[in-house]
Amino acid sequence: MQKYILSPILAVFILLSAPLFGQKCGHDVLEEEVKRLYPNFEADEIEFISSVNFNETHNTEAVVHTIPVVVHIIYDTQSDNISDKQVRDAIIGLNEDYRRLNADTSNTRSIFQGVAADCEIEFQLAKLDPQGNCTTAITRTQSALSVGANNNVKGLISWPNNKYLNIWVVNSITLSGSGTGTVLGYAYKPNPGQSTTYDGIVIRHDRMGRIGTGVSMGRTLTHEAGHYLGLDHPFKGGCFAGDNCADTPPVLEASYGCNTNANTCSNDSPNKPDMIENYMDYADDNCMNLFTDDQRAIIRSNLANIVRRGYLVSTTNAQTTGIEPGMALPCAPQANFKASQTVVCNGTAVQFTDISTFGNATNWSWYFPGGTPSTSTAQNPTVTYNNASGNTFKNYDVGLTVSNAVGASQSSIDGYVSVQLPNSTIWANNFNSGFEFNPIPNGTWHVENSEGDNIKWERNSFNSFEGDYSVKLDNYNNAPDNSDALVTNFIKVDRATAMNFSFRYAVASKPGFAMDQLNVSVSQDCGQTWESVRSLLGPLLYATTNKPNPWNPTTSSNWRKVTIGLNDYVGNQPIMIKIGFISGGGNNAFLDDFNLDVTLDQEDLSAAHITIYPNPSNGRFSVQGLPAGTPYTIYSTDGRALQKGRLDIDASLELSAPAGYYLFQAASIRKALIIQ
Ligand code: ZN
Ligand code: CA
Repeated sequence: MQKYILSPILAVFILLSAPLFGQKCGHDVLEEEVKRLYPNFEADEIEFISSVNFNETHNTEAVVHTIPVVVHIIYDTQSDNISDKQVRDAIIGLNEDYRRLNADTSNTRSIFQGVAADCEIEFQLAKLDPQGNCTTAITRTQSALSVGANNNVKGLISWPNNKYLNIWVVNSITLSGSGTGTVLGYAYKPNPGQSTTYDGIVIRHDRMGRIGTGVSMGRTLTHEAGHYLGLDHPFKGGCFAGDNCADTPPVLEASYGCNTNANTCSNDSPNKPDMIENYMDYADDNCMNLFTDDQRAIIRSNLANIVRRGYLVSTTNAQTTGIEPGMALPCAPQANFKASQTVVCNGTAVQFTDISTFGNATNWSWYFPGGTPSTSTAQNPTVTYNNASGNTFKNYDVGLTVSNAVGASQSSIDGYVSVQLPNSTIWANNFNSGFEFNPIPNGTWHVENSEGDNIKWERNSFNSFEGDYSVKLDNYNNAPDNSDALVTNFIKVDRATAMNFSFRYAVASKPGFAMDQLNVSVSQDCGQTWESVRSLLGPLLYATTNKPNPWNPTTSSNWRKVTIGLNDYVGNQPIMIKIGFISGGGNNAFLDDFNLDVTLDQEDLSAAHITIYPNPSNGRFSVQGLPAGTPYTIYSTDGRALQKGRLDIDASLELSAPAGYYLFQAASIRKALIIQ
């Protein structure tokens, strides 16, 4: 089931990208300056291009070159000081595009599918700094130069650019002579004649990565890395010039938007449409999805040429920068791990992945209490959980110790994996939660704390919309991009005809820029995959803004309500609902009064669907299988109506009557009821 919902994230993207017509990338204006300074630049270019063998490199060589990267975050205020996680996400996206592992390869029109290339280039954050010390290769420098930045930021910090690709992340970019429009990034091509002083990529923080402050799919970085590796814009010089690639059709000028009908040059034979899919054009991020074989040939020739970019990917440099796989590094590993999923059904195999940083580990010691196996010395083990009994989540701890010759470290997360029997479900019509009765986690709610830190969703008795309790996330003290979720137990929805899910939320922001997100998603396959059904951020999320101190809701008007139609999820498969919060520098968050409002198929109601328990009872019993609000009547065996009403949300009833047989009736169904 595929759903297309215009998410607020997309809306923000459209708003920000709409006024960008003009100079999106600063490469061309800088190259004009370079040509003035280095008269041999163009002759070198022509000589280099003539050396590129466009024919031989069309097929993949099965050799992947890895470029060591350092990211310098030059921030003006904390809101530009993007997280390590956002930086890593940018590198992941970059690698997907350069390996043609991007999720949108199927959007490449068939006419261009044949020339779309896996460049066999990867980028990796360096593990050793220029002094040979272990590093995350993410530096942070506070400077007002971040606003309207250009080459002036490179004097603040720079690592030797023959060894590292330097990426400077800034608030905004201003280049003299770049004309109108917003410059999102820029980079220089390799050329042995030019000074390497300014080599590297400058990019706005909101174009770096797809999470946190990122507002796009990250293609600005892909584009600028293309320049860095020797590529031109396909529209360079118009229809009769171009980028030296025979497989990028000529294009008159930069493409904007996403116009698949554009064909601005007809001097190509056969006359092909403009390749708006090309990363090196200016189309919208969600229209770009390819490099071509000839672009790949230029990139790889630059990496094969030691005076251009070749030294970067040499074995010597891989050792200098610490990215040589498995090499000994002068520091202990710092343990960290992740799992393929953390809410699982009974018997599900979970893939654990070692994502430890700093020194390369040589030994791994995992412990999985409750799992099979319960310990492992593999780097990336697979563990199966069999929650043999019980009808609520069982939460299992996971721990990892990593070591090498220098030292060891340990990481563990309590209750990291939550296991549930697939047949122990709650009925849709009985699902409601105001957190009144039990702390979380409980039989209804699993708490997902992805980072394993001290900040997670917790029951809170000081602020609630209804009753005495709600749940709170101490987002005031949360780290950017941390992910914390509440996940429901399995909910049976097979007899529903319509469902609406609603809850109350109260979230505030701090002074300045904040990008928190509340995402609601649904799984129909025991948490293996999740479909997003609603994202709340910005004005949709915040009840109030500009709160400098830890915030709590004080009036009912601080609590906003969201109602989400879930009719598409009605069916035989039980569903799980996840309410995920991604921190973006805002203030505290509260949730309360969850309800799944279900319309049941009345025709399908049969006695078999209704359970009365306990039955026999002492007069206190519950009725399962009917929606809240359903009218009911209890009759004596001689047909007198003894009690009438509507079922409460918890469907519990009390009948004060002598021991004996009675009849419970709702809709057209009658069931025997026994009082002892
Ligand atoms: Zn460009
Ligand atoms: Ca054409």
